[in-house]
Parts: sequence; structure tokens; C-alpha cells
Amino acid sequence: MTKQGVSAEEASAEILASIDRMPVERVPLGAALHSILAESIVAPLSIPPWRSSSMDGYAVRAEDISRVPCTLRITGEVVAGVTAPGAISTGEAMKIMTGAPVPPGADSVVRIEDTHAYAKHVEIRNARDLGRNIRPLGEDFRDGDPLVAEGSFLTPAAIGVLASAGIASVATFRQPTVSIVSSGDELVRLDNFAPVVRGERIVSSNSYSLPALVRDAGGRPRDGGITRDDQAALRSAIEGAMVCDLLLTSGGVSVGDRDFTRTVMQDMGTDIKFWRARIRPGGPLVFGVLDGRPWVGLPGNPVSAMVTFELFVRPAILKMLGETMLFPVSQPVTIDEAITVSGDLTHYLRVVVTSTGDNLHARPTGTQSSGALTSMLRANALLIVPEGRREYQCGEVLRAIPLGGSMSRTTVFPG
Ligand code: AMP
Ligand code: MG
Repeated sequence: MTKQGVSAEEASAEILASIDRMPVERVPLGAALHSILAESIVAPLSIPPWRSSSMDGYAVRAEDISRVPCTLRITGEVVAGVTAPGAISTGEAMKIMTGAPVPPGADSVVRIEDTHAYAKHVEIRNARDLGRNIRPLGEDFRDGDPLVAEGSFLTPAAIGVLASAGIASVATFRQPTVSIVSSGDELVRLDNFAPVVRGERIVSSNSYSLPALVRDAGGRPRDGGITRDDQAALRSAIEGAMVCDLLLTSGGVSVGDRDFTRTVMQDMGTDIKFWRARIRPGGPLVFGVLDGRPWVGLPGNPVSAMVTFELFVRPAILKMLGETMLFPVSQPVTIDEAITVSGDLTHYLRVVVTSTGDNLHARPTGTQSSGALTSMLRANALLIVPEGRREYQCGEVLRAIPLGGSMSRTTVFPG
């Protein structure tokens, strides 16, 4: 049964109810960045595996350097990458490099700058390193320590920690393949630009922005091509695009004479869960399941396609990737301009959010036409104007969601 005119929240819940996590696959650690870990990893060893020096200098006994200057006998040298050397005794020192194992008996490493070496002896001139500069075995982590928990997002730091623990491969949720089919008689690719110059066609910008969004969200885009507004052509493009985990179409879901996407999907046997959401932009959004594959029919308007992707498709991809936190955090923002909307829909206005003192302020990025993609280019957030009220005064507080994490970035080095 197709629901009609759902709220944004209902649309999201309906889509996510038909989305499963991807199967688990084992990947080399070097390929696992930004994946979600599908297993919990416990340290199989301790790091560092030996008491190691954190300075280039001389390994000594604290009791021998309590009075400086003093002279100790050099009994050897220990470099990084060798096994633990023999012990030192009273009155002895061993030259040592950063990262090398500290000889038994030593409890301090005196930095090289505080020493003067002779042929067989070293003079210690400063006692400030008494008891210092030795990293204990297991300072970073110990054998059996929990390292990275199942469900964690693999950051560069996680990759580094797992590498140091010797974890060569990890179980992660496979990246979903997301097929994208664009339809529209007026659309061409970038390599067929002449008709655009003649004023007869436009570039299918969705064929570029949507794959970029899929990649940005962690999915693998698969080009399903651009088709004419023709049922047979659309059907054959969609059949070809079904080698995927999620199908996206762009265009042809509204009520025009040549809007065939829904009809074709229906004819192919799609269980259409809803059509039309009470939102702007993106009202004609449609969602269904064909042969077990979720399909999101995005409206063709470039802004509508991007905004509905952010609201509904990005969380779906994150769920497939094994994420549990699927949504951006909305923040209260003071609006710096009066806003008038239709009142019967939830509007997502493209805004620039800036922080002034303790407050966030939002200002719309000019025209809110769903055809004006530059409004997305300039925006760093979507202002949520809930259905129910038509007018908002300058200074009122609404909520906004960041786009692409841009709100948490700046050009200034932190200090
Ligand atoms: P539709 O959703 O097919 O009714 O298209 C709505 C508007 O979006 C029309 O102005 C189309 O020209 C435009 N449009 C549709 N598909 C694309 C696309 N892939 N890239 C850029 N604009 C598009
Ligand atoms: Mg169209």
C-alpha cells in the first residue's frame, strides 16, 4: 500500500525500515579507513614490548647520578631494533638510542646534551633526568586490553593502533554499491556539451553531484546512465542498474506527462511504500522495494535531489555501513532575516550558519529555487522550518542541520 504525503520523519522511518546492514567482509587494514568495525579487537600483545628509552643518551642507575658531575664507565651501546642487552651495575652506563630496550639495572636515561663522552667513560653533568625517560613495557596498551570496539568508525588513529597491535585485516561492513539512473529528455553528459552551448540541453548535474554524495557518504557509486523520458528506455536502464545494493533514480517522479519513473518501477513489480513527502524542496520523493532492493526516487531538480539525499539517503547508506548514529545533530540558530514559507510543508532552507559569540546565526543563501544549485554551493546548513507556521521574524530561533560537516570546520589554526 502506497502512503501519500508523509512527513519527513515518516519518510525516513519508512526508508530505514527497508534498509539492512551490509554483509561483513574481511579487508586489509590499509583499506579499512572510514569503515565500521564488525568485530571487537583485543590487544594480542603489549606495546611497547620492552622498557624503551624515550631519549638518545645514556642508560644509568639513579643512585649513581645523585651527585653531578660524575663519571661512569661505558659498558656498551644499545640501538633501536636490537634485543634487550645485558644489565648494567653500579658505576656503569650504556649508550642508548630512542626506542631501544633499556638494559636491566638502569632506571634513568640521561639525555645526550647533559653528558660528555670520553673513550671509555662518560661524564654526567646534570641530574634532571634522574628516574626519567624510560617508557614502561605496555605504556601504550597491554596484552588483553580492549583496543577498538565493534561498531567503531575506523579513523586514522584506529588504523595506526591496530597496525601497532599487528592486526593485518579487520572485519567490516561492506560498502554498498549505489546505482544512479538519471532521466530527462533535456539532459546530456559533460562530453556532449555542444547542445548545451546551442541552448537546447542542460548538463545532467545530478549525474555528477549524486555520485559525489554517495562517495561522500561512504558508498560506491555505480553509473546507471542517463535515459530519455521513454518507458522502454527507462526500464532497460533500470534493469541494467539493478546490480546494486541501493537504487537511486533522479527525475520523472512528479506529475508531468513525461514523468514515467514511478510507472516503470511499478510495472517492474516495485512495492512502492510512499510517494510524496510534505517537504520543500523534494516533495515528489518516492520510495519502494524492487526484488529486495531499496529504491529511492529522487526528484530531478538539482537542489531537491541533493537535499533529499542528505535527509534520507545519507542515513540509509550509513545504516548499510553499520553505523547506528545516522543523523546530523541539529542546532538552534537565530535567523537574521524574516522568513515566509507556505506553512503546509516542512521547508529546508539553504542557509549560511555563522557563530557569533555563544550564538549561531543563520542567513538564507539568496534564492531558494529548487533549480538554483548555487544555493547549495553557498550553504553550510539546512534551516528546518517546520510545517504549521507561515511567517518568522528576524531574531526568532529555529534549528539547522550542518551540510557535509562544514559547520565544524574553519580556516583558522586552532589556538
Ligand atoms: P523532473 O523531476 O524530471 O520533473 O525535473 C525537474 C527539473 O529538474 C527540471 O527542470 C529538469 O530539467 C531538472 N532536472 C531533472 N533531472 C536533472 C538532472 N539529472 N540534472 C540536472 N537537472 C535535472
Ligand atoms: Mg523530467
